[in-house]
Amino acid sequence: MLAMLLTAPGSPLRPATIPDPVPAAGQVLLRVGACGICRTDLHVADGELPEPKLPLVLGHEIVGEVASVGAGADRLEAGDRVGVPWLGWTCGECRYCRAGRENLCDRARFTGYQIDGGYAEYAVADARYCFPLPPSYTDAEAAPLLCAGLIGHRALRAAGDAERLGVYGFGAAAHIVAQVARHEGRRVFAFTRPGDAEGQAFALELGAAWAGPSSEHAPEELDAAIIFAPVGALLPAALRSVAKGGTVVCAGIHMSPIPSFPYEILWGERVVRSVANLTRQDGAEFLGLAGTIPLRITTTSLPLEQANEGLNRLRSGQVRGAAVLIPPIR
Ligand SMILES: [Zn+2]
Ligand SMILES: [Zn+2]
Repeated sequence: MLAMLLTAPGSPLRPATIPDPVPAAGQVLLRVGACGICRTDLHVADGELPEPKLPLVLGHEIVGEVASVGAGADRLEAGDRVGVPWLGWTCGECRYCRAGRENLCDRARFTGYQIDGGYAEYAVADARYCFPLPPSYTDAEAAPLLCAGLIGHRALRAAGDAERLGVYGFGAAAHIVAQVARHEGRRVFAFTRPGDAEGQAFALELGAAWAGPSSEHAPEELDAAIIFAPVGALLPAALRSVAKGGTVVCAGIHMSPIPSFPYEILWGERVVRSVANLTRQDGAEFLGLAGTIPLRITTTSLPLEQANEGLNRLRSGQVRGAAVLIPPIR
């Protein structure tokens, strides 16, 4: 099969023909229909996350059709359409797993990082971590639900019942979260890179109450903010925008260093927290919701062979909504 391989962090992915993977016990083989490009893929490719499997197939927003089933993976059958998220395996035994917090599992393994992912024609996945997908979305539309949507939704839950919600970085995750937040009756204030008039127009199109550059203050106090952009300097900026008792959620896996800031902007019971990974419960909840709210998923599809182009476009902020890779038809 064709796969785009990361052989060394910091170097472009290489197209390679490698043997089709074979599903082990408990796994399924998927024919990939679409795989989203997530910012985390950039962090892995750039060497900002330690010790990836090498060579590695990136990609943890996989939509695929079950082609064959390994021993004991009988919860799925050939022909089923499923999604594969970032959380690829957990131990089920550590204190986090036992407490229903498998997103924090000490021994968790992640798709497209420690397990080969979906920048390929085929992928294998542990059947217990695959999600059924709402049928109303195409493969390309469903792919971004699996991380941008899921992690975005976990971040939205972490923001509490904030009525005035700030989002910093209006990419794949924010464009989904904004729609869910609107559906819940919240008002969304979207911050983009300074000068990104198109991004601001996109946010307003999706129902944001206000959109402007991250260098500006929100036009009114916010009750919470979610930071999707991997920029540490946004944290003090967001703290300055939230009201007393408000929460600032850092939703990314990696962020540039956070500059020091005066205690007074944290004072007043403001909270700073991160969101790490996902639980299968998150997946079931969010995908259930996505099946009932008609989310408008904006995608830019590229052929699998153009994975490097997709990563570069994401890096330079040129993707409207979510970038998605489509393998060749064979
Ligand atoms: Zn565990
Ligand atoms: Zn992701």
